[in-house]
Amino acid sequence: MTSSIRTLNPATGKIEKEFQPYTTEQINNAIQRADDLYKTWRFESFENRKQIVKAAAAEMRAQKEHLATLITTEMGKPLRESRIEIDYSANILDYYADHAEEFLKPDTLVTEKGDALIFSEPIGTLLGVMPWNFPFSQIARFAAPNIMAGNTILLKTASNIPQCGEAFEAIFEKVGAPKGLYTNLFISGKETSALVGDNRIKGVSLTGSDAAGASIAKVAGENIKKSVLELGGTDPMIVLNDADLEKVMSGTINGRLRNAGQACTSSKRIIVQEDIYDAYLAKVKTYVENMKVGNPLEDDTDMGPVSSAPALETLLDQVNKSVENGAELVIGGKQIGTEGSFMEPTILADLKPGMKAYDEEVFGPVICLIKVKSVEEALTIANDTMYGLGASIYTENIELAHDMARKIDSGMVYINKQVSSSPELPFGGTKRSGYGRELSKAGILEFLNRKLILTS
Ligand code: NDP
Repeated sequence: MTSSIRTLNPATGKIEKEFQPYTTEQINNAIQRADDLYKTWRFESFENRKQIVKAAAAEMRAQKEHLATLITTEMGKPLRESRIEIDYSANILDYYADHAEEFLKPDTLVTEKGDALIFSEPIGTLLGVMPWNFPFSQIARFAAPNIMAGNTILLKTASNIPQCGEAFEAIFEKVGAPKGLYTNLFISGKETSALVGDNRIKGVSLTGSDAAGASIAKVAGENIKKSVLELGGTDPMIVLNDADLEKVMSGTINGRLRNAGQACTSSKRIIVQEDIYDAYLAKVKTYVENMKVGNPLEDDTDMGPVSSAPALETLLDQVNKSVENGAELVIGGKQIGTEGSFMEPTILADLKPGMKAYDEEVFGPVICLIKVKSVEEALTIANDTMYGLGASIYTENIELAHDMARKIDSGMVYINKQVSSSPELPFGGTKRSGYGRELSKAGILEFLNRKLILTS
């Protein structure tokens, strides 16, 4: 049996487990179960919904070591980071379990026409299409708000993390969730868009590449269905001359090298003002030289492999082509060994428009440096991208940072800190980084019918 839905451990290059894609009948039955359950789940009390979601959070924490090991085995991030992801995912479940009722309480309005009540009602069964880079937390931020809002969930995870997808479903089963509340689907990416046309599916949320997002949004548009897209980014990180280098280093390590640089909000273009450039480069280089890259299951490993051999190939090509076009390779740039898909942490300097590492999203451990003279030049380069997810600014002049933040075309700007996500903060982008928001109150309002009832 050879299936594209499989665990191929990127640290060893070995296939560990394969899964058959669901048949048309299995998919149809799954959609039907979710649709059937919706008819009662939509009227379930917040208290009963909360009980299930809280129990799922507790179960996730109880299984932390097992789940974290699955993440690391399937996509390669260091076990340390996987454990943090499991805690974070459980926190997201708890957050929506605790706050959904308050977020969704009806609004009232007294008008000349009469007294208005505006209810936030669920809309039905939703499809989530999720990536591999944060296998649990990406699902949690889609599933938790929507289950608490009264929708039911079908979940298609990336084909390289099937055991994570299966484990998430098993958690809901174990805590007694009714059948159809949360269903994992083993199905290839290519076949997924067509599902959005099914009348029983009322909305879709995708996190991943802009190509996958466009494919899903096209079918959603044709069928007049709501979609939320959380796509790629080439987030700028601006470092001004007066920046605190300790904060900048923390931002670089956590914002660019964590998860081997495979995060949508990773700082993919680091724009540094000229007076601080040499001091910063020296510090980053020393850090990179001393990183421990290797077995992601070992506790002192700083960086594991990238997610797959094709991902590694793309990264090496982006680096090589950029160097051919004049970028300076400061350190790294090569594969490590021949087993698995390990890449040297890399620093590229002197990036310019027309180079792959400037124009494209570099989804890996490559620190891309651009030296600038002025704040204005930094802002121009920050906005010189088709994406607009996050951005970060490092300076001790907070007033200037706020002024700059308002001029950057992105969904989020962090000052003196790397962009990240938290249950209570809205997350999402603009331009080709997608639309809609996840997390916070905004995240639970996406797939709702805001129903007006007016009494004259
Ligand atoms: P994809 O966008 O291909 O995968 C993300 C999810 O979308 C997966 O579940 C995938 O399924 C599914 N998918 C793929 N094609 C389609 C389609 N035509 N219709 C519906 N669903 C689809 O990301 P990759 O893993 O291939 O990574 C490619 C690039 O995407 C990265 O290098 C990065 O630039 C970006 N990316 C951004 C992420 C983010 O967090 N914003 C996360 C992951 C990737 P399947 O695995 O079965 O193909």
